[in-house]
Amino acid sequence: MVDLKGQYDKIKDEVDKSIFEVLNSTSYINGPAVRQFQENLEKYMGVKHVIPCANGTDALQIAMMGLGLKPGDEVITVDFTFAATVEVIALLNLTPVLIDVDKDTFNIDLKKLEEAITPKTKAIVPVHLFGHVAQMEDIMALAKKHDLYVIEDNAQAIGANYTFKDGSQQKAGTIGNVGATSFFPSKNLGAYGDGGSIFTNDDELAHSIRGIVNHGMYERYHHDVVGVNSRLDSVQAAVLDIKLKHLDDYSSRRQNAARHYTEALSKSEHIQTPQTETYKPCDNSNGICDTCDCHVFHQYTIKIKNGKRNALAEHFKKNDIPHGIYYPIPLHSQKAYKDERYDEKEFKVTNQLVDEVISLPMHTELDKEQIDYITSEIIKVVG
Ligand SMILES: *Cc1c(COP(=O)(O)O)cnc(C)c1O
Repeated sequence: MVDLKGQYDKIKDEVDKSIFEVLNSTSYINGPAVRQFQENLEKYMGVKHVIPCANGTDALQIAMMGLGLKPGDEVITVDFTFAATVEVIALLNLTPVLIDVDKDTFNIDLKKLEEAITPKTKAIVPVHLFGHVAQMEDIMALAKKHDLYVIEDNAQAIGANYTFKDGSQQKAGTIGNVGATSFFPSKNLGAYGDGGSIFTNDDELAHSIRGIVNHGMYERYHHDVVGVNSRLDSVQAAVLDIKLKHLDDYSSRRQNAARHYTEALSKSEHIQTPQTETYKPCDNSNGICDTCDCHVFHQYTIKIKNGKRNALAEHFKKNDIPHGIYYPIPLHSQKAYKDERYDEKEFKVTNQLVDEVISLPMHTELDKEQIDYITSEIIKVVG
């Protein structure tokens, strides 16, 4: 699915040198490498505060702790995402409210979102699934109207740009009150181990979060709040700082690969290719995608409309073509998150997506020849 070795080989000299610099510095935790990466990421994202932490799941949890959400508060998020999103809501004894997604973008359904808001709702967690930014302008307007926090799960969309109706742009993850991302190796900005980060433009929230990641300490050995231990280590920061310089190039490589896939797969009436305006002139009026750079293709995920998804997966397996089914089970049907509040009728889209979606190899080293081979195999099976 990914070619991390091919990517590493191209930056090996730079990366190895900076790793050895950290080893020689012996400043393995919170050293200058972390500080430097933090500052460079702040510049890149156009955000006031980047707070590095140990992984993307922690980033989401700490963001929610920083906002002071309390047990019983309802937090609305999507039924179709990686479990980490709902896991941290449940861990903090907040009440997860899972809702259906849009059938074309796989992102939060705005109508369902508005319907799900109750007097107990305190926050919304949009997930920029597969690298495609959710409709943030509308989400922010709704949040303002109902006085809710917005926590962006940006684990899959780092580097994506969101364009507002007035033409201004902001990076995904910096639009809500707070954003969280993951540097898991296969993510678009991947470390060589675990890592994560929190984004905010809110000075007070940033201060609060900086204490929470460090055992609730704002002054050494004074523990003002219950915190956690969540750090990005210096070796990972050094690797990430190098890869950050390549992130825009990595995104455009992914977008190019997506363009080749879409060109080849559009020939089949049984395949729905990802909904995006990334490589077409922007059309804000369609209400689906607001910008030309709003999809960074963490995954290239198609829908197989004629019931042949499993046959295709079998064919891939037999021919050693990597693929993934993200996600095979909707969260509301997972043992850990089942709840009598949920009504199957409310999850029409996710219940169908789990039978139709399949993700194709997607990474920065993919070439046209590989894509031609993969797409011709798909058409063979699906028609
Ligand atoms: C990867 C991911 C996370 C969690 O990130 P980790 O660094 O693995 O903890 C959270 N949300 C989404 C949508 C993800 O894809």
